[in-house]
Amino acid sequence: MKKPKALKRALLIVNPRARRGTGSIASAVKVLEERGIAATEVKVGEGETISNLIRAHRAECDFVIVGGGDGTLNAAAPGLVDTGLPLGVLPLGTANDFARTVGIPADPVKAAELIAAGEPRPIDLGEVNGHFFFNVASIGFSAELASDLTEHAKKRWGKLGYAIMAARILARSRLFTAHLDHDGTTERLRTMQISVGNGRHYGGGMTVEETATADDGKLDFYSLEVDHWWRLLALLPSLRKGTHGRWNDVRAFQTTEVTIRTSRRRAVNTDGELSTYTPAHFRIRPKAISVFAPPKGQPT
Ligand SMILES: [Mg+2]
Repeated sequence: MKKPKALKRALLIVNPRARRGTGSIASAVKVLEERGIAATEVKVGEGETISNLIRAHRAECDFVIVGGGDGTLNAAAPGLVDTGLPLGVLPLGTANDFARTVGIPADPVKAAELIAAGEPRPIDLGEVNGHFFFNVASIGFSAELASDLTEHAKKRWGKLGYAIMAARILARSRLFTAHLDHDGTTERLRTMQISVGNGRHYGGGMTVEETATADDGKLDFYSLEVDHWWRLLALLPSLRKGTHGRWNDVRAFQTTEVTIRTSRRRAVNTDGELSTYTPAHFRIRPKAISVFAPPKGQPT
């Protein structure tokens, strides 16, 4: 007699503030159950962190499913790295750039099918001063944008809110001096923004570098060294495509480790949240986690 397939146990953690609500989660959980996966949802309580929940339930599950966007994934990263549990993603956030980078479908039901069918594969994380990031970490313009654009404004104004805040911050943006140490060299530069990417997509439609992947063992650095803020408007199409490295007022290179120092302390934004300050020591954490994603090389 054939033995019934062992039920796989998933720990399900959903961002309670996820834009797409309970309907899509219920249909995703149904798909999982049909494929023999028992998903147990745990709620993030007052004063608890997603990573602590993962650590607390590590013995009761075979893998973790996170329902949410890039911010929710970021909060899960330390717990995933500590426990080594594979990660399934149900993209339910306002920004699902990591899902896009590794080819996870935007539709939660299709994403659930991928979790049920797929084999997890190793994925890198970026790290800055001990904080992980899936997509990108930035210093300068976009870090200020994140601090000014509150959750409330995001919900209320959506993309328009971003545009208005971006215009306001742009108008008062100044170049700052930064010192870089990387690959045995020290460089001094004047920049409006520095970004260090792990994956390809970020910021809801921006691209770190058109060929970057989250499993190439590399960080992609770029610095916007523009004379005038309005130069950014000309660069915008390239920033979206990830071809800005070709412009001569953009410095871009790949590395595995870089330290950035600034004369005054500046905030560092990791996946949309302010998490640390300069001096900022970045390094790649190759194959830090495993993720249910389509096989490498499959078009995204
Ligand atoms: Mg990479």
